[in-house]
Amino acid sequence: MDAFICAGMMIIGRGISRGCIGARTTCLPGWAGVASSRRRNRHRVESSARRPFGKRLERFGVEQGMALIKDEAVVLRRLDFSESSQVLAVFTRAHGQQRVIAKGVKRATRQRASVGIDLLERGDIVFSQRPGGEERLSPLTEWRQLDHYPHLRADLARYYAGLYAGEAVAMLTEAHDPHVGLFDGLRKYLADLSSDEPGLLLARFLWLLLTEIGLQPELSVCTSCRRLVTEDRVLYFSSRSGGAICRDCEPASIEKFQLSVGATKITRGGPTDARGVRAALTMLDYHITEILGRPLRAARSMHATVVKSVSGGG
Ligand SMILES: [Zn+2]
Repeated sequence: MDAFICAGMMIIGRGISRGCIGARTTCLPGWAGVASSRRRNRHRVESSARRPFGKRLERFGVEQGMALIKDEAVVLRRLDFSESSQVLAVFTRAHGQQRVIAKGVKRATRQRASVGIDLLERGDIVFSQRPGGEERLSPLTEWRQLDHYPHLRADLARYYAGLYAGEAVAMLTEAHDPHVGLFDGLRKYLADLSSDEPGLLLARFLWLLLTEIGLQPELSVCTSCRRLVTEDRVLYFSSRSGGAICRDCEPASIEKFQLSVGATKITRGGPTDARGVRAALTMLDYHITEILGRPLRAARSMHATVVKSVSGGG
């Protein structure tokens, strides 16, 4: 169901106002009876943004002088904060990564249970931010769920493929640094996980991520002697050198990793055989681990599910 959460206090499904949750809670002014159409929602945002500052906004942590920002976002990280609130790291399309606090989002009543906002959800978001206060948590004032990606919750390999990608985006992109192409790629990737091979999709997405942030490895020439390399010979990979290392230059490189056959096909749209997909995923995970100085928390589960799920063709 299409759900709309107004800082945990009002939920609207299928365009029908369900009213406030709890007798003592109050919706933001101007939000009761919001229609389902995005056009009307956008109008509501503009209308409420023009309204004089009210004491009710303080319930959400909004202070006078804060601007209301609307965007589309994917939830990358979620941390429970008190019994009823959450701190979220979201990747927005036009404003990059943002950290928001959703006060009261998990508040439930006798009539309605609330689990808050889930990982890897995509939705329309409105949060407030004080100019110059980008380092502080931004109060979330609205969240309208656009896609819950239920196929991720039904398959372990697809779920960890999504989690790994989300954590990689969270760790490798800077706050307030927008990457529109990466956001669109993440949205397509999460949708494509419903049908396509998660291993190949993850390898392609990680390549897109590394390309967007300027850390994609060089795999066509040796990064030391600049000679063209082929997988006919034993090939190494060095994250610090920024890519492939040929057999002749390998002894001089301390940090290195022997590539399996097929890994370099990721530069040409991705390997099509299972061995190549596994090799590409292993190489990209190694590269990300070296960049961060530690493995991603989802790395072990990704290897145990996504890499193992790659089947066929050896
Ligand atoms: Zn070389």
